[in-house]
Amino acid sequence: MKPSANEKSGIRPLNAKRKFPRVADIDTSTFLHPVAELPAYGDKPEALWELEDVEVIGKRVRSLAYFQRGTVVARFAGTLTYEVMQHTLQVTPTTHILDTNMVGYLSHSCGPNCLLDMTRLEVLALKDIRPGEILSIDYAVTEDVLFKQFPCSCGSPECRHWVTGRREQVNPEGVAYLQHHWNRK
Ligand SMILES: [Zn+2]
Repeated sequence: MKPSANEKSGIRPLNAKRKFPRVADIDTSTFLHPVAELPAYGDKPEALWELEDVEVIGKRVRSLAYFQRGTVVARFAGTLTYEVMQHTLQVTPTTHILDTNMVGYLSHSCGPNCLLDMTRLEVLALKDIRPGEILSIDYAVTEDVLFKQFPCSCGSPECRHWVTGRREQVNPEGVAYLQHHWNRK
């Protein structure tokens, strides 16, 4: 029997009964720029992740499948805009994309399990991801300036405690927050 696209990629749906092989040795030279034959899963995204509503924080995305490090979790598309909005992602310094599907709802983590390729418009697994894990990205990787800076308690060892875009200074609220944070240590 020919292997399916999912078998080749190391991704298997949560409810799959049979064992799928895991490709143990990923060529990290293809890590940031996945090869063309890596499949996209836009055809049945509902089987691979789900959007969930959480009180106060809003929507987030939960994995329903195993994603091996380096594989494409999702491809995305959306409406281009010149404005930075709460759920937009930066494509160029002056262009932002508003995705109506899932990517605008990925959570922030300073040690995320996903990475966005804003050239190919793909969500890649930065770590091996198991079903049930919340999918996250580091907002500072794609955004020059955030819609709103915010405190972070993501729990990762690399946590910056206050998140900004990659080309902006910590704002006065953040300075006060960080001073308070470090004084408590
Ligand atoms: Zn953090």
